[in-house]
Amino acid sequence: MARYTGAKCKLCRREGMKLFLKGERCYGSSCAIERRPYGPGQHGRRRGRKPSDYKLQLREKQKVRAIYGVLERQFRLYFAEANRRMGATGENLFNLLEKRLDNVIYRLGFAPSRASARQLIRHKHVLVGDVVCDVPSRQVKVGQIVRIRTKSQNIPQVVGAIKDANKRDRLPFVQADDKKMEGHLVSEPQLSDLPIPIQENLIVELYSK
Ligand code: SF4
Repeated sequence: MARYTGAKCKLCRREGMKLFLKGERCYGSSCAIERRPYGPGQHGRRRGRKPSDYKLQLREKQKVRAIYGVLERQFRLYFAEANRRMGATGENLFNLLEKRLDNVIYRLGFAPSRASARQLIRHKHVLVGDVVCDVPSRQVKVGQIVRIRTKSQNIPQVVGAIKDANKRDRLPFVQADDKKMEGHLVSEPQLSDLPIPIQENLIVELYSK
């Protein structure tokens, strides 16, 4: 499956905020945003003109795509599904993104980043219910148990991620059992629970043109 393979820190610098794409490094002083708090490239330090409405909408959408590691085509499909469902489209969109299996593994603290969670899933280290699942985009239902396979529980990446996750609060819609390396969604993820400020209305406006 196609995916973005460029420098992750560039994405944060372009959006001017931490998107937490690299795990523990994002919390330390080696974070690129701390060291170079301006845009990437030779024009990164230039003070631009007042951004147009379109630019603001586009940047918000690109920011969210970068956070969840979703390519444009797939993101459009999520938007179409969110739009089709009852309720606010923006809320629906984030509900779909948050319930992706790679995101749930990351939110549970079993992987340092979504990219790393995707790799664990692809390499068949993750069970949904009692069945191995190697599809990172799979939608996890509320209450469905997600766990790291017994034979994979000593992978240093997973052990380290759990140790680091315990230093911070997990989000209110997930519950993890670190000893068993399993967890589940306790409720539907809400946009207001997310730690990064997101203006979902800008994304809805962009795709509604
Ligand atoms: Fe973004 Fe993390 Fe890189 Fe900092 S270290 S710029 S938060 S990906």
